[in-house]
Amino acid sequence: MFEASEDQPARGLSTRCVHAGEHLDAQGAIHAALYNHSTFGFRSTADLLDVVEGRKEGNLYTRYGLNPTIRSLEEKLADLEYGERAYAFASGMAAEAATFLAHVESGDHVVCIGDVYGGTYELLAVNLPRLGIETSFLLADEIDSLPSVLTDRTRIVFFETPTNPTLDVIDVGAVARMARTMGAITVVDNTFATPVNQNPLALGADLVIHSATKYLGGHSDLTGGAVVGRKDLLEPIWMWRKNLGQMIAPEVAFLLGRSIRTLVVRVRAQNATAGKVAEFLAGHPRVVRVNYPGLGGGSNLARGQMRGFGGMLSFVLEGDAEETARVVDRLQIFSIAASLGGVESLVTQPITTTHHGMSPEERHRRGIVDGMVRLSCGLEDADDLVADLKQALEQA
Ligand code: PLP
Repeated sequence: MFEASEDQPARGLSTRCVHAGEHLDAQGAIHAALYNHSTFGFRSTADLLDVVEGRKEGNLYTRYGLNPTIRSLEEKLADLEYGERAYAFASGMAAEAATFLAHVESGDHVVCIGDVYGGTYELLAVNLPRLGIETSFLLADEIDSLPSVLTDRTRIVFFETPTNPTLDVIDVGAVARMARTMGAITVVDNTFATPVNQNPLALGADLVIHSATKYLGGHSDLTGGAVVGRKDLLEPIWMWRKNLGQMIAPEVAFLLGRSIRTLVVRVRAQNATAGKVAEFLAGHPRVVRVNYPGLGGGSNLARGQMRGFGGMLSFVLEGDAEETARVVDRLQIFSIAASLGGVESLVTQPITTTHHGMSPEERHRRGIVDGMVRLSCGLEDADDLVADLKQALEQA
Protein backbone atom coordinates (compact mmCIF):
# COMPACT_ATOMS: atom_id res chain seq x y z
CA MET A 1 0.00 0.00 0.00
CA PHE A 2 1.21 3.57 -0.67
CA GLU A 3 1.48 4.92 2.89
CA ALA A 4 1.41 8.70 3.18
CA SER A 5 4.58 10.25 4.59
CA GLU A 6 6.15 13.73 4.57
CA ASP A 7 7.99 13.23 1.28
CA GLN A 8 5.37 10.85 -0.18
CA PRO A 9 1.81 12.17 0.09
CA ALA A 10 -1.12 9.72 -0.09
CA ARG A 11 -1.77 8.85 -3.71
CA GLY A 12 -5.13 9.21 -5.40
CA LEU A 13 -7.43 6.33 -6.19
CA SER A 14 -6.72 6.34 -9.93
CA THR A 15 -2.96 6.14 -9.29
CA ARG A 16 -3.48 3.31 -6.83
CA CYS A 17 -5.73 1.40 -9.25
CA VAL A 18 -2.90 1.49 -11.79
CA HIS A 19 0.13 0.97 -9.54
CA ALA A 20 -0.83 -0.71 -6.23
CA GLY A 21 0.48 -4.26 -6.01
CA GLU A 22 2.58 -3.94 -9.17
CA HIS A 23 6.29 -4.72 -8.82
CA LEU A 24 8.79 -4.93 -11.66
CA ASP A 25 9.88 -8.55 -11.95
CA ALA A 26 13.23 -9.87 -13.15
CA GLN A 27 12.12 -9.40 -16.79
CA GLY A 28 10.99 -5.83 -16.20
CA ALA A 29 7.37 -6.53 -17.19
CA ILE A 30 5.55 -3.26 -16.72
CA HIS A 31 2.64 -4.93 -14.89
CA ALA A 32 2.38 -8.07 -12.79
CA ALA A 33 3.06 -11.06 -15.03
CA LEU A 34 0.84 -14.10 -15.42
CA TYR A 35 2.25 -17.11 -13.59
CA ASN A 36 -0.09 -19.92 -14.56
CA HIS A 37 1.96 -22.42 -12.59
CA SER A 38 0.27 -24.58 -9.98
CA THR A 39 3.51 -25.09 -8.03
CA PHE A 40 6.87 -23.35 -7.43
CA GLY A 41 10.32 -24.84 -6.89
CA PHE A 42 12.99 -24.25 -4.20
CA ARG A 43 16.77 -24.48 -4.24
CA SER A 44 16.87 -26.33 -0.92
CA THR A 45 14.65 -28.00 1.68
CA ALA A 46 15.62 -25.22 4.10
CA ASP A 47 14.27 -22.61 1.65
CA LEU A 48 11.03 -24.58 1.25
CA LEU A 49 10.59 -24.89 5.02
CA ASP A 50 11.10 -21.14 5.44
CA VAL A 51 7.99 -20.59 3.34
CA VAL A 52 5.96 -23.53 4.68
CA GLU A 53 6.68 -22.49 8.28
CA GLY A 54 5.99 -18.81 7.61
CA ARG A 55 9.48 -17.37 8.22
CA LYS A 56 9.65 -15.97 4.68
CA GLU A 57 7.07 -14.92 2.14
CA GLY A 58 7.34 -17.00 -0.99
CA ASN A 59 5.56 -18.83 -3.72
CA LEU A 60 4.62 -22.41 -3.04
CA TYR A 61 1.32 -23.68 -4.39
CA THR A 62 -1.38 -21.76 -6.24
CA ARG A 63 -4.39 -23.21 -4.38
CA TYR A 64 -2.87 -21.72 -1.20
CA GLY A 65 -2.72 -18.29 -2.87
CA LEU A 66 1.08 -18.44 -2.81
CA ASN A 67 1.42 -17.39 -6.46
CA PRO A 68 2.89 -14.03 -7.60
CA THR A 69 -0.01 -13.10 -9.92
CA ILE A 70 -2.57 -13.70 -7.17
CA ARG A 71 -0.48 -11.87 -4.55
CA SER A 72 -0.18 -8.83 -6.81
CA LEU A 73 -3.97 -8.71 -7.28
CA GLU A 74 -4.54 -9.11 -3.54
CA GLU A 75 -2.16 -6.25 -2.74
CA LYS A 76 -4.11 -4.04 -5.14
CA LEU A 77 -7.48 -5.05 -3.66
CA ALA A 78 -6.29 -4.45 -0.08
CA ASP A 79 -4.99 -1.03 -1.05
CA LEU A 80 -8.20 0.07 -2.79
CA GLU A 81 -10.38 -0.90 0.18
CA TYR A 82 -7.94 0.35 2.88
CA GLY A 83 -7.56 -3.17 4.27
CA GLU A 84 -4.48 -4.78 5.82
CA ARG A 85 -4.91 -7.74 3.52
CA ALA A 86 -7.18 -9.17 0.82
CA TYR A 87 -7.90 -12.69 -0.35
CA ALA A 88 -9.09 -13.35 -3.88
CA PHE A 89 -11.58 -16.12 -4.64
CA ALA A 90 -13.04 -18.05 -7.56
CA SER A 91 -16.33 -16.10 -7.22
CA GLY A 92 -18.17 -13.65 -5.00
CA MET A 93 -20.20 -16.52 -3.50
CA ALA A 94 -16.97 -18.41 -2.72
CA ALA A 95 -15.73 -15.33 -0.83
CA GLU A 96 -18.99 -15.05 1.08
CA ALA A 97 -19.25 -18.74 1.92
CA ALA A 98 -15.66 -18.92 3.20
CA THR A 99 -16.21 -15.79 5.32
CA PHE A 100 -19.30 -17.22 6.99
CA LEU A 101 -17.77 -20.66 7.48
CA ALA A 102 -14.68 -19.12 9.07
CA HIS A 103 -16.52 -16.86 11.49
CA VAL A 104 -19.65 -18.75 12.52
CA GLU A 105 -20.25 -22.23 13.88
CA SER A 106 -23.16 -24.36 14.98
CA GLY A 107 -25.30 -22.48 17.53
CA ASP A 108 -24.17 -19.07 16.27
CA HIS A 109 -26.38 -16.37 14.86
CA VAL A 110 -26.12 -14.02 11.86
CA VAL A 111 -28.14 -10.90 11.07
CA CYS A 112 -28.75 -9.90 7.47
CA ILE A 113 -30.06 -6.39 6.82
CA GLY A 114 -31.92 -5.30 3.70
CA ASP A 115 -32.17 -6.94 0.31
CA VAL A 116 -29.27 -9.03 -0.81
CA TYR A 117 -28.35 -10.93 -3.94
CA GLY A 118 -30.57 -14.04 -4.23
CA GLY A 119 -27.61 -16.44 -3.88
CA THR A 120 -26.56 -14.75 -0.65
CA TYR A 121 -30.12 -15.01 0.64
CA GLU A 122 -30.11 -18.74 -0.18
CA LEU A 123 -26.77 -19.23 1.59
CA LEU A 124 -28.15 -17.55 4.73
CA ALA A 125 -31.69 -18.93 4.60
CA VAL A 126 -31.00 -22.50 3.43
CA ASN A 127 -27.32 -23.54 3.62
CA LEU A 128 -26.26 -22.08 6.97
CA PRO A 129 -29.34 -23.33 8.90
CA ARG A 130 -28.36 -26.87 7.83
CA LEU A 131 -25.14 -26.33 9.82
CA GLY A 132 -27.06 -25.13 12.89
CA ILE A 133 -26.52 -21.44 12.16
CA GLU A 134 -29.56 -19.20 12.40
CA THR A 135 -30.06 -15.97 10.42
CA SER A 136 -32.43 -13.13 11.31
CA PHE A 137 -33.48 -10.91 8.41
CA LEU A 138 -34.23 -7.23 8.94
CA LEU A 139 -35.54 -4.88 6.27
CA ALA A 140 -33.33 -1.91 5.38
CA ASP A 141 -35.61 0.51 7.25
CA GLU A 142 -35.55 -1.64 10.40
CA ILE A 143 -31.99 -0.98 11.54
CA ASP A 144 -33.26 0.69 14.73
CA SER A 145 -34.44 -2.73 15.85
CA LEU A 146 -30.98 -4.26 15.36
CA PRO A 147 -30.08 -4.09 19.10
CA SER A 148 -33.16 -6.17 19.97
CA VAL A 149 -32.21 -8.85 17.41
CA LEU A 150 -28.53 -9.13 18.38
CA THR A 151 -27.72 -11.91 20.86
CA ASP A 152 -24.53 -13.02 22.56
CA ARG A 153 -24.30 -15.67 19.79
CA THR A 154 -24.47 -13.11 16.95
CA ARG A 155 -21.13 -13.27 15.15
CA ILE A 156 -21.82 -11.41 11.89
CA VAL A 157 -24.05 -8.57 10.77
CA PHE A 158 -24.11 -8.68 6.98
CA PHE A 159 -25.53 -6.31 4.38
CA GLU A 160 -25.11 -4.77 0.96
CA THR A 161 -25.30 -1.03 0.47
CA PRO A 162 -26.79 0.01 -1.88
CA THR A 163 -28.93 -3.11 -1.71
CA ASN A 164 -29.89 -5.40 -4.55
CA PRO A 165 -32.35 -4.73 -6.23
CA THR A 166 -34.10 -1.97 -4.24
CA LEU A 167 -30.97 0.25 -3.96
CA ASP A 168 -31.59 1.14 -0.31
CA VAL A 169 -28.65 2.82 1.42
CA ILE A 170 -27.74 1.39 4.84
CA ASP A 171 -25.74 3.36 7.40
CA VAL A 172 -22.44 1.43 7.69
CA GLY A 173 -21.14 3.35 10.71
CA ALA A 174 -24.38 3.07 12.70
CA VAL A 175 -24.74 -0.67 12.10
CA ALA A 176 -21.08 -1.35 12.88
CA ARG A 177 -21.34 0.53 16.21
CA MET A 178 -24.42 -1.47 17.25
CA ALA A 179 -22.89 -4.79 16.16
CA ARG A 180 -19.66 -4.08 18.04
CA THR A 181 -21.49 -3.59 21.36
CA MET A 182 -22.51 -7.27 21.13
CA GLY A 183 -19.12 -8.48 19.89
CA ALA A 184 -20.32 -9.11 16.32
CA ILE A 185 -18.37 -8.14 13.21
CA THR A 186 -19.89 -6.14 10.36
CA VAL A 187 -19.40 -7.51 6.87
CA VAL A 188 -20.41 -5.34 3.91
CA ASP A 189 -20.83 -6.47 0.31
CA ASN A 190 -19.46 -3.48 -1.62
CA THR A 191 -20.10 -4.94 -5.08
CA PHE A 192 -22.64 -2.31 -6.19
CA ALA A 193 -20.77 0.73 -4.89
CA THR A 194 -17.17 -0.36 -5.68
CA PRO A 195 -14.16 1.22 -3.93
CA VAL A 196 -14.59 4.19 -6.27
CA ASN A 197 -17.84 5.24 -4.61
CA GLN A 198 -17.50 3.92 -1.06
CA ASN A 199 -15.04 2.30 1.35
CA PRO A 200 -16.96 0.39 4.05
CA LEU A 201 -13.82 -0.30 6.15
CA ALA A 202 -13.20 3.43 6.43
CA LEU A 203 -16.84 3.84 7.53
CA GLY A 204 -16.46 1.30 10.36
CA ALA A 205 -17.09 -2.14 8.81
CA ASP A 206 -14.77 -5.04 9.71
CA LEU A 207 -14.71 -6.92 6.40
CA VAL A 208 -15.61 -6.03 2.82
CA ILE A 209 -16.72 -8.54 0.21
CA HIS A 210 -16.80 -8.15 -3.56
CA SER A 211 -18.21 -10.11 -6.40
CA ALA A 212 -15.29 -9.17 -8.67
CA THR A 213 -17.36 -10.63 -11.48
CA LYS A 214 -19.13 -7.26 -11.60
CA TYR A 215 -17.47 -3.80 -11.64
CA LEU A 216 -13.97 -4.87 -10.62
CA GLY A 217 -13.82 -7.22 -13.64
CA GLY A 218 -16.02 -4.80 -15.54
CA HIS A 219 -16.20 -6.57 -18.91
CA SER A 220 -18.49 -9.56 -18.21
CA ASP A 221 -15.64 -11.91 -19.06
CA LEU A 222 -14.47 -13.23 -15.69
CA THR A 223 -15.81 -14.67 -12.42
CA GLY A 224 -14.06 -13.79 -9.17
CA GLY A 225 -14.49 -12.60 -5.62
CA ALA A 226 -12.60 -10.99 -2.76
CA VAL A 227 -12.62 -10.40 0.98
CA VAL A 228 -10.67 -7.47 2.42
CA GLY A 229 -10.00 -6.40 6.01
CA ARG A 230 -7.83 -6.88 9.08
CA LYS A 231 -5.27 -9.69 9.10
CA ASP A 232 -6.67 -11.36 12.21
CA LEU A 233 -10.14 -11.60 10.66
CA LEU A 234 -8.78 -12.85 7.34
CA GLU A 235 -6.53 -15.59 8.69
CA PRO A 236 -9.34 -18.07 9.49
CA ILE A 237 -10.84 -17.38 6.05
CA TRP A 238 -7.56 -18.35 4.39
CA MET A 239 -7.81 -21.92 5.68
CA TRP A 240 -11.38 -22.35 4.41
CA ARG A 241 -10.41 -21.01 1.01
CA LYS A 242 -7.48 -23.40 0.87
CA ASN A 243 -9.40 -26.48 1.95
CA LEU A 244 -12.55 -25.81 -0.03
CA GLY A 245 -10.30 -25.14 -3.03
CA GLN A 246 -11.95 -21.81 -3.79
CA MET A 247 -8.84 -20.12 -5.19
CA ILE A 248 -9.08 -17.71 -8.09
CA ALA A 249 -7.27 -19.06 -11.18
CA PRO A 250 -4.04 -17.15 -12.04
CA GLU A 251 -5.36 -16.28 -15.54
CA VAL A 252 -8.44 -14.75 -13.94
CA ALA A 253 -6.36 -12.89 -11.34
CA PHE A 254 -4.25 -11.47 -14.17
CA LEU A 255 -7.33 -10.36 -16.11
CA LEU A 256 -8.87 -8.85 -12.97
CA GLY A 257 -5.70 -6.88 -12.16
CA ARG A 258 -5.77 -5.59 -15.76
CA SER A 259 -9.41 -4.53 -15.39
CA ILE A 260 -8.94 -2.75 -12.07
CA ARG A 261 -6.42 -0.38 -13.69
CA THR A 262 -9.37 1.25 -15.50
CA LEU A 263 -11.88 0.96 -12.63
CA VAL A 264 -12.06 4.64 -11.77
CA VAL A 265 -12.75 5.91 -15.30
CA ARG A 266 -15.32 3.20 -15.89
CA VAL A 267 -17.24 3.66 -12.64
CA ARG A 268 -17.26 7.46 -12.78
CA ALA A 269 -18.73 7.31 -16.30
CA GLN A 270 -21.29 4.73 -15.14
CA ASN A 271 -22.25 6.95 -12.16
CA ALA A 272 -22.94 9.86 -14.52
CA THR A 273 -24.95 7.75 -16.98
CA ALA A 274 -27.08 6.09 -14.29
CA GLY A 275 -27.85 9.55 -12.86
CA LYS A 276 -29.16 10.70 -16.26
CA VAL A 277 -31.16 7.51 -16.81
CA ALA A 278 -32.69 7.75 -13.31
CA GLU A 279 -33.76 11.36 -13.89
CA PHE A 280 -35.36 10.41 -17.22
CA LEU A 281 -37.26 7.47 -15.72
CA ALA A 282 -38.44 9.54 -12.74
CA GLY A 283 -40.16 11.90 -15.18
CA HIS A 284 -41.83 9.18 -17.29
CA PRO A 285 -45.59 8.66 -16.80
CA ARG A 286 -45.39 4.85 -17.04
CA VAL A 287 -42.86 4.64 -14.20
CA VAL A 288 -44.31 4.59 -10.69
CA ARG A 289 -41.04 4.47 -8.78
CA VAL A 290 -37.30 4.86 -9.41
CA ASN A 291 -34.77 3.44 -6.95
CA TYR A 292 -31.44 5.24 -7.28
CA PRO A 293 -29.39 6.57 -4.34
CA GLY A 294 -28.48 9.75 -6.25
CA LEU A 295 -31.98 10.72 -7.32
CA GLY A 296 -32.68 14.37 -6.51
CA GLY A 297 -29.10 14.79 -5.29
CA GLY A 298 -29.25 11.83 -2.87
CA SER A 299 -30.24 11.54 0.80
CA ASN A 300 -28.00 12.91 3.56
CA LEU A 301 -26.98 9.35 4.35
CA ALA A 302 -26.10 8.53 0.73
CA ARG A 303 -24.12 11.76 0.33
CA GLY A 304 -22.38 11.18 3.65
CA GLN A 305 -21.05 7.73 2.90
CA MET A 306 -20.81 7.60 -0.90
CA ARG A 307 -18.60 9.62 -3.25
CA GLY A 308 -20.74 8.65 -6.26
CA PHE A 309 -24.05 6.83 -6.53
CA GLY A 310 -23.17 3.94 -8.83
CA GLY A 311 -24.25 2.56 -12.16
CA MET A 312 -27.14 0.44 -10.84
CA LEU A 313 -30.79 1.44 -10.54
CA SER A 314 -34.19 -0.15 -10.54
CA PHE A 315 -37.63 1.11 -11.44
CA VAL A 316 -41.19 -0.09 -11.10
CA LEU A 317 -43.81 -0.09 -13.84
CA GLU A 318 -47.50 -0.15 -13.22
CA GLY A 319 -48.24 -3.58 -14.63
CA ASP A 320 -47.81 -7.29 -14.11
CA ALA A 321 -44.81 -9.47 -14.93
CA GLU A 322 -45.90 -10.01 -18.57
CA GLU A 323 -46.46 -6.32 -19.30
CA THR A 324 -43.11 -5.54 -17.73
CA ALA A 325 -41.44 -8.26 -19.81
CA ARG A 326 -42.84 -6.65 -22.96
CA VAL A 327 -41.01 -3.40 -22.12
CA VAL A 328 -37.81 -5.30 -21.29
CA ASP A 329 -38.04 -7.32 -24.50
CA ARG A 330 -38.31 -4.17 -26.63
CA LEU A 331 -34.99 -2.77 -25.39
CA GLN A 332 -32.34 -2.85 -28.09
CA ILE A 333 -29.15 -1.64 -26.41
CA PHE A 334 -29.70 -3.16 -22.96
CA SER A 335 -29.15 -6.94 -23.04
CA ILE A 336 -31.41 -9.14 -20.94
CA ALA A 337 -28.93 -10.71 -18.55
CA ALA A 338 -28.53 -11.55 -14.86
CA SER A 339 -25.22 -9.89 -14.08
CA LEU A 340 -24.11 -6.27 -13.74
CA GLY A 341 -21.15 -3.92 -13.73
CA GLY A 342 -19.87 -4.53 -17.27
CA VAL A 343 -19.12 -2.07 -20.06
CA GLU A 344 -22.39 -3.09 -21.76
CA SER A 345 -25.76 -2.13 -20.29
CA LEU A 346 -27.85 -4.97 -18.90
CA VAL A 347 -31.49 -5.27 -17.90
CA THR A 348 -33.26 -7.84 -15.78
CA GLN A 349 -36.56 -8.38 -14.01
CA PRO A 350 -35.34 -9.47 -10.55
CA ILE A 351 -38.26 -11.92 -10.25
CA THR A 352 -36.92 -13.81 -13.29
CA THR A 353 -33.26 -14.00 -12.28
CA THR A 354 -31.56 -12.71 -9.14
CA HIS A 355 -34.62 -13.17 -6.91
CA HIS A 356 -36.36 -15.97 -8.81
CA GLY A 357 -35.66 -18.41 -5.97
CA MET A 358 -37.22 -16.20 -3.27
CA SER A 359 -40.84 -16.94 -2.33
CA PRO A 360 -43.43 -14.49 -3.73
CA GLU A 361 -44.44 -13.59 -0.12
CA GLU A 362 -40.86 -12.72 0.83
CA ARG A 363 -40.40 -10.74 -2.38
CA HIS A 364 -43.60 -8.84 -1.69
CA ARG A 365 -42.44 -8.03 1.88
CA ARG A 366 -39.24 -6.60 0.40
CA GLY A 367 -40.89 -4.57 -2.36
CA ILE A 368 -39.42 -6.75 -5.12
CA VAL A 369 -42.60 -6.52 -7.15
CA ASP A 370 -43.55 -8.07 -10.52
CA GLY A 371 -43.24 -4.69 -12.26
CA MET A 372 -39.65 -4.12 -11.11
CA VAL A 373 -36.87 -3.76 -13.68
CA ARG A 374 -33.18 -3.52 -12.73
CA LEU A 375 -30.67 -1.74 -14.95
CA SER A 376 -26.91 -1.91 -14.99
CA CYS A 377 -25.72 1.11 -16.97
CA GLY A 378 -22.65 0.43 -19.09
CA LEU A 379 -20.34 2.71 -21.03
CA GLU A 380 -22.59 3.46 -24.00
CA ASP A 381 -23.66 7.10 -24.55
CA ALA A 382 -26.23 8.09 -21.92
CA ASP A 383 -28.45 9.68 -24.58
CA ASP A 384 -28.63 6.39 -26.47
CA LEU A 385 -29.66 4.52 -23.32
CA VAL A 386 -32.35 7.09 -22.56
CA ALA A 387 -33.65 6.89 -26.15
CA ASP A 388 -33.73 3.09 -25.94
CA LEU A 389 -35.76 3.17 -22.72
CA LYS A 390 -38.08 5.82 -24.17
CA GLN A 391 -38.94 3.76 -27.26
CA ALA A 392 -39.44 0.59 -25.17
CA LEU A 393 -41.73 2.34 -22.67
CA GLU A 394 -43.73 4.05 -25.40
CA GLN A 395 -44.11 1.21 -27.88
CA ALA A 396 -44.50 -1.88 -25.70
N1 PLP B 1 -22.94 -9.96 -4.28
C1 PLP B 1 -23.71 -9.29 -5.16
C2 PLP B 1 -24.20 -7.92 -4.80
C3 PLP B 1 -24.06 -9.88 -6.38
O1 PLP B 1 -24.84 -9.21 -7.25
C4 PLP B 1 -23.58 -11.19 -6.68
C5 PLP B 1 -23.91 -11.86 -7.95
O2 PLP B 1 -24.75 -11.45 -8.72
C6 PLP B 1 -22.79 -11.84 -5.74
C7 PLP B 1 -22.47 -11.20 -4.56
C8 PLP B 1 -22.24 -13.21 -6.02
O3 PLP B 1 -21.15 -13.08 -6.88
P1 PLP B 1 -20.64 -14.21 -7.92
O4 PLP B 1 -21.67 -14.37 -8.95
O5 PLP B 1 -19.33 -13.65 -8.39
O6 PLP B 1 -20.45 -15.46 -7.10
